[in-house]
Amino acid sequence: MIKYFQPTIQAPSLDLISVEQLTRDGIKGLIIDLDNTMTPWNDVEVAPKVTKWFLKVKAAGISACVVSNCSKRQRVAVVADYLDIPFVFGAFKPRRRAFRVGMRLLGTEYKNTAVIGDQLFTDILGGNRLGLYTILVTPINDREFIGTRFLRRMEKVLVWLMKHCAPAKPVSPR
Ligand SMILES: [Mg+2]
Repeated sequence: MIKYFQPTIQAPSLDLISVEQLTRDGIKGLIIDLDNTMTPWNDVEVAPKVTKWFLKVKAAGISACVVSNCSKRQRVAVVADYLDIPFVFGAFKPRRRAFRVGMRLLGTEYKNTAVIGDQLFTDILGGNRLGLYTILVTPINDREFIGTRFLRRMEKVLVWLMKHCAPAKPVSPR
């Protein structure tokens, strides 16, 4: 069960994800979370370093889309339009449907799509359920939706469990 919460890789922030590594790992499309991954929570401000990172992604031939649980279409659209990428709003991650819609928008497959987000219970769990490459980033800041704050506490418990209760290696038959 715990493996569903383990990201493939981790990064301190979106713009510090190595585009070279994505290319090396065969990634062709990115499904990216909005709140606290691309912008601060409930904000539409995209930092210049993030805009620059998106240009690098595009130049590498990797496509991207926003898949957000935010139910306000307008807010998600403003950010996606600014970066000139498609979007899905009201996604209900970790449900799988929106990730599949994202892949359809990107024209990619399970094996070459990565999910990027700041939450284990929505982004990472959802991506891992479909066997996608998952990237956990540190949230941009502490401000967030009250429900997310609760999940964040649960994440802390989960991270502790992953650290201290790693599954035992199977004993090889003699
Ligand atoms: Mg988020």
